[in-house]
Amino acid sequence: MRRLGRGFVFSVPGASGMTTDREITLRVNLIQTCHAMADSGLTFGTSGNASVRMDSDSLLITPTGLAYDDLQPEDIVLLKEDGHYFGIRKPSSEWRFHRDILKMRRDVDAVVHVHSQAATALACRSEGIPSFHYMVAVAGGEDIRCAPYATFGTQNLSENALTALEDRYACLLANHGQIALGSDLAAALKMAGEVESLAGMYWQSIQGGKPTLLSKDEMQRVLKKFETYGDQNATPDDGLIRGD
Ligand code: 13P
Ligand code: ZN
Repeated sequence: MRRLGRGFVFSVPGASGMTTDREITLRVNLIQTCHAMADSGLTFGTSGNASVRMDSDSLLITPTGLAYDDLQPEDIVLLKEDGHYFGIRKPSSEWRFHRDILKMRRDVDAVVHVHSQAATALACRSEGIPSFHYMVAVAGGEDIRCAPYATFGTQNLSENALTALEDRYACLLANHGQIALGSDLAAALKMAGEVESLAGMYWQSIQGGKPTLLSKDEMQRVLKKFETYGDQNATPDDGLIRGD
């Protein structure tokens, strides 16, 4: 087991000069997310990064180039929307897309970026994931787009990613990797895992030629069903009658 925070005796003055319990929890959550990214094989070495919304104009983000195993809560960086950062480390080189996504997408509070194998292999062909499987709808639409290539850490990459993420919770980044969004870090991490799993299946399915794609209508039906999927309080399907 990795030890975090040296017993949580640490102090990183944020923009306000104070570190709240919520901020400490989010810093620890970010590090646990990075450990999960590495342990699940979604990323390797110092590739990838993650961020979580702190308040209306600031976020917490992983530092650039530090091994995940060594991360401590004080290594996490507080970043304001205007580019000011606070802490003992520099923010991830991808701070621009983390900042821009959290600024533009008020429907999500966390961003995970990984170079997972299958998603990246597809992205190296500038290919997204079409509607080859109904689960593609898990990312919010009928496909998962691939953003055109731009150098890592650039504003161009951020803009390309934001466009590819329109009405979606995930996108691929050409010749780079993937970005996944969620209402919290656990949801964003889960989304990254779904994208990787789908990319792997799609990759296998194209080995024998073109797979059959589901129609737009069918994907709309699936998206509708996803609105209540797993909701134990939702009205049961027609033909299903509770027996007690
Ligand atoms: P950072 O270590 O700066 O977060 O960069 C990793 C990465 O994946 C860049 O795209
Ligand atoms: Zn990257």
